[in-house]
Amino acid sequence: MLEVKNLVKTYSSGDVAFRALDDVSLKIEEGEFVAIMGPSGSGKSTLLHILGFLDSPDSGAYLFNGQDTSKFSDTQYAALRKNYIGFVFQQFHLLPRTTSINNVSLPLIYSGRKDLKDRPAKMLTDVGLGTKFYNMPNELSGGERQRVAIARSLVNDPEVIMADEPTGNLDSKSETEIMNILLDLNKKGKTVIMVTHEESLGLQAKRVVRLKDGKIISDTRKATTSPIKKSPPLPSLPLNDNHDVPQTAQFIDYIRQSFQMIFSNKVRSFLSMLGIMIGVATVVAMLALGAGAKKSISDSLNQMGTNMLSIQPDHRNESGVQVTFTLKDMTDILTIPYVKRVAPLVNGSVMLIVGNKNLSSRVQGTTPDEAGMRNSMPTYGRMFTIEESQSRSKVAVIGSTVASELFGSEDPVGKSIKINRINFLIIGVLPVLGGNSFQDRDNVVMIPVNTAMYRLFGKTSYDSLDIEISQTDQVSEAQDQVSQMIIKKHGLTPEQENAFRIMNMAELQDTVKKTANSLTFLLSFIASLSLLVGGIGIMNIMLVSVTERTREIGIRKAIGARKRDVMMQFITEAIIMTFSGGLMGIIFGVSIAFILSKLANWVIVVTPSAVFLSTAFSVSIGLIFGILPAKKAANLNTIDALRYE
Ligand code: ADP
Repeated sequence: MLEVKNLVKTYSSGDVAFRALDDVSLKIEEGEFVAIMGPSGSGKSTLLHILGFLDSPDSGAYLFNGQDTSKFSDTQYAALRKNYIGFVFQQFHLLPRTTSINNVSLPLIYSGRKDLKDRPAKMLTDVGLGTKFYNMPNELSGGERQRVAIARSLVNDPEVIMADEPTGNLDSKSETEIMNILLDLNKKGKTVIMVTHEESLGLQAKRVVRLKDGKIISDTRKATTSPIKKSPPLPSLPLNDNHDVPQTAQFIDYIRQSFQMIFSNKVRSFLSMLGIMIGVATVVAMLALGAGAKKSISDSLNQMGTNMLSIQPDHRNESGVQVTFTLKDMTDILTIPYVKRVAPLVNGSVMLIVGNKNLSSRVQGTTPDEAGMRNSMPTYGRMFTIEESQSRSKVAVIGSTVASELFGSEDPVGKSIKINRINFLIIGVLPVLGGNSFQDRDNVVMIPVNTAMYRLFGKTSYDSLDIEISQTDQVSEAQDQVSQMIIKKHGLTPEQENAFRIMNMAELQDTVKKTANSLTFLLSFIASLSLLVGGIGIMNIMLVSVTERTREIGIRKAIGARKRDVMMQFITEAIIMTFSGGLMGIIFGVSIAFILSKLANWVIVVTPSAVFLSTAFSVSIGLIFGILPAKKAANLNTIDALRYE
């Protein structure tokens, strides 16, 4: 069944090379119970590890069931370990903080043998631990731990049990128990290979192979043992396997395992998630703020429409000319064919008083056209008329904030309001425009332009003119013509042309949106730096955890995990940590954004794309920063990992 020829294994520490195995050849048949004996340091364990595919020789051949295994890949060795060999170690090598039943079930994760899912419980019961399924290793005696380890080695129903000083750490009573279990297994047909230095144990085996200084010095079979019966050869090795392990089932196992590890290191896991959480929260909040600012700016701009021009004197110009706009300019501009409507604007801050309540607000003096151009015809009551405007009537249309602040739930229409101590009659209420970060656009009062100029502010010219163009694609053409008209009518020289400004709303919107975009980008970039730092934190923790769990990795490999399994497990752990950190971050970030919107009255927009982006980002961080530690873990040599102190 097993045959090794001329095995040589040399260890070198520093400059000194040490031959642990020196030309060892050995043949073991099915059904044998072989004790490998010899003084300490004679190479017993080294031989057993090579037989169990935990380690590889420097030279020599190993035929397993007639097949030369020397050129096998990592996956094929893993397949041999999990399908044919059960290992029992002197130090038990159970996973800490893991129940007996979970320890015993572990090999099934890697073999994927659904047909064996009842075996862990049966094996534990068989070794006498029917009542200790849910105890952790530290709640078990040494003998009990070794029995768990034996149950684990039997789960995949292997052909060979390899035991390395299985009773070395046990009292004599447990020693007898363990020995009896092994003898019993051999009786039931399992091949047993046991390393021991105790004569009393070795002599119970059917065959004793003695080693000294890395060489076999004797090989004796007990006279009493029945001749070894030749059993039919093993079925051919399914070495390209995992034989029919469904990917999803294995993936679920990885996830379950990862949660187990994360929860058994709660504080550490949480702290490393914290980095990701803060990073994602900042990104989400920043994106929400950026999107909110953009929305509120473009809302106010959209209200004006893209086919609008605004023209106003530039009082800061250095040409020495003060341009003023009057009714005459309005009628001039209206003669330009592209121009549909023109409305004058006169603005000023005022104090409003109703009864014993007051409110500081803005007055906009204009004509009825303005409300039409800005899509803000009163939703309730009516707009003032051109006649009212010409006759300087004291009528007012109020914004919704003014209505709610000064009248509460009362109907304001028909009531009077004092604007800078002058009585006005309220005739309508404007539609709700919504606030933004800069101003409350509903805290406004619209009155006829002439009333504003002559009764309230004592002005003789307009502050600005809003011009509506018939078609959006005529805006820039119209803009030129309006400019020409003003220059001509006001007799401006080329140097004086900047005495007024003409603004194109489409251009203005564009500029503002671009500014808002780059602001959002900048904020998000800064926020993503903290995600990067969080990712490095996770990597750090994972690297520490690889070192800390070196033995665990060795155990997993010894019971059949492939490199890929170990790698996947660590990556899954990293992704779960970053993903949950990310989720918490999203919740946290949205809450921050929400609180800001309530406290500071900022407009916040949480876009699905922002949430998606940060989730994707945190998962990729898990992936990227998980790969390095996972690689490190997967590449550990099985036996070095097991021996790691
Ligand atoms: P035994 O099991 O018979 O006590 P081992 O097979 O464990 O002996 O070891 C055989 C010899 O190889 C010992 O002298 C030991 O010091 C040496 N050895 C084992 N493993 C290593 C290693 N990883 N590096 C260097 N020397 C080693």
